[in-house]
Amino acid sequence: MAASKKTKLVEDLDTLEPMLTRLKLTAIRDQLDTLLDQAVRAELNLREALTMLCTAEVARKDERRIQMGMSIAKFPYVRTLEGFEYDAQPSVDPKQIRELATSRWVANGDSVLLLGPPGVGKTHLAVALGREAIVRGYSTLFVPATSLVTQLARAHAEGRLEDKLLHFTKPKLLIVDELGYLPFEANAAHLFFQLVSRRYERGSILVTSNRSVAEWGGVFGDAVVATAILDRMLHHSHVVTIRGDSYRLRTKRRAGLASQASAKPETTSN
Ligand code: ADP
Ligand code: MG
Repeated sequence: MAASKKTKLVEDLDTLEPMLTRLKLTAIRDQLDTLLDQAVRAELNLREALTMLCTAEVARKDERRIQMGMSIAKFPYVRTLEGFEYDAQPSVDPKQIRELATSRWVANGDSVLLLGPPGVGKTHLAVALGREAIVRGYSTLFVPATSLVTQLARAHAEGRLEDKLLHFTKPKLLIVDELGYLPFEANAAHLFFQLVSRRYERGSILVTSNRSVAEWGGVFGDAVVATAILDRMLHHSHVVTIRGDSYRLRTKRRAGLASQASAKPETTSN
């Protein structure tokens, strides 16, 4: 009697895998035997077992989404907040970075300026904060300032400026790296201004720069445009100013001191 009841509900066990494939529940499909074993061993009831299966599936989907977001973002390298040594950079306030890591500023459409001399970890923090934003579901795009300006200028010359502006306006977070290493031409400053206006109060922008805000007039080659850009960027902004030595020089110097002090060479991470 019991057997015939079962046959009515489940006609063919072999349909399970194809159904899981069709429903795109690939994590459950790929680990089915292991997951079911675990459920039996832990004596889970049906609801608990279903929760466990769905948890595995959601974890896989999240992982894929983050991987996809990371590859779309075009980061120059992989860096995380866990890999940032605060001891090496005492001018960085861990509390401020932890707050930024929540990505609330991205949700609010605020800006972040990471300022400081070369090698102090600006790009590292920019990439790590970008990753945090992606983990929380915000689309992110990283672009070096010179590449951004070149792309906008070329699109402008070819009559495709609208498309290009749209491309850089779409992501919820745009990271512009190394603003100020090269001064902008007048036309470039105008194009950058158009982008900043488009994004204003719609999406967040994170800028890293080796120039202080006071020097931006010189970077944009036009005090009026610089003021207009700063006006928008500094409204609802978080500024992280890093002072101190280049991380690479610092580790090299420490290695040098260490080998003077003892015969054993110190290993350095780079
Ligand atoms: P910049 O300020 O010029 O953008 P980067 O962020 O590229 O400097 O840092 C240079 C290198 O040093 C990178 O590989 C980065 O990961 C590393 N680095 C810099 N500061 C730190 C830090 N405080 N902890 C760990 N690595 C760091
Ligand atoms: Mg950098």
